[in-house]
Amino acid sequence: MKITDIAVSTMDVPNAPPVSTYYAGSSYVVARIRTDAGIEGLGYTMLMGGMGASAVRAYLEDNIVPLVTERDALQIGAIWADMYENDRGLRKKGIPVYAMSAIDIGLWDILGKSADKPVWQLLGAHRDKVPVYGSGGFLSYTVDELVEEAEGFRKQGVGHYKFKLGRENVMENVERVREVRKALGDDMEILVDANQRWDVATNIRVGRMLEDCNLFWYEEPVLADNIAQCAEVAAAIPIPVATGENEYTRYGFRDLIEARAAQYLNPDIHRCGGFTETMRIAHLAAAYDVKIAPHLVPELHVSVLAAIPNGALVEVLAGSPENLWEHPVEIVDGHLLPPERPGHGMEFSAEAVRDYTVDG
Ligand SMILES: [Mg+2]
Repeated sequence: MKITDIAVSTMDVPNAPPVSTYYAGSSYVVARIRTDAGIEGLGYTMLMGGMGASAVRAYLEDNIVPLVTERDALQIGAIWADMYENDRGLRKKGIPVYAMSAIDIGLWDILGKSADKPVWQLLGAHRDKVPVYGSGGFLSYTVDELVEEAEGFRKQGVGHYKFKLGRENVMENVERVREVRKALGDDMEILVDANQRWDVATNIRVGRMLEDCNLFWYEEPVLADNIAQCAEVAAAIPIPVATGENEYTRYGFRDLIEARAAQYLNPDIHRCGGFTETMRIAHLAAAYDVKIAPHLVPELHVSVLAAIPNGALVEVLAGSPENLWEHPVEIVDGHLLPPERPGHGMEFSAEAVRDYTVDG
């Protein structure tokens, strides 16, 4: 099945409130992969705040599309390796991997559609529903707003809620966690995310003070570039550390695992190399009994988590854009159900394509 054409476009999708207070929207660089069998795969990669979108698109159009066009769409592994090895000098972090990921996601969509099977079954079905955690809790929120958001998730059967650490006054963060724990009671798990804001000493101080808050995980304590420091925090605090949303490919995750930097890994299918590489990362982590809880993109990560034995939770953000998808993912009793449609099962709604495409 030959790839005849790859149409690249960009969609700028505004965030719904309240996320829009944090960043206005995200860009989706879309690659529609067409084949001589008439099957079209939807590949895309999402850039938060639109950061780097034009560069990802240029890399995709200039370096990847010419390499992939005319190839056999079903040779996903070979195409992945060629995209990876083709890069000279940018290194497989950041822009090149975002671009590769879009193609890989589109190729798995084609494989599923050609086999008339959902991707999660082709990847090795492990479960037919995956638990989610509710995410949001931006720094601007009051404690009442945090509790309200958590209760909104709880009403949907969700048992885990995550919010941000990083207010300038360190003790204020500790107090916020204590107050939210008190308000929610002990039957809801709480996760916190420092978003790389603090140094090792501050994280250890905060992590130790939060010991009695019964936290599920403590995310991205330090700069993602410094794996040794993350491992230092993980060894010193009594809360499991999660990290990986800013890591790329199996090599980056190998380094996190070898350093014992985290008990939960948060790969992002758009940043780490599509379905192909996310599965490799998940299997590598399984050999160390490290769990996978992917970063955002629940509409695709639901298929990954349905296919791996060491999946923990899928992240669902409060205030995700509405009307983006033909078949939006829906929380059912605290879980997402992987799509039964062939391929990855996702397609942008006609309305979203019309309203958000900025450069077809
Ligand atoms: Mg995070």
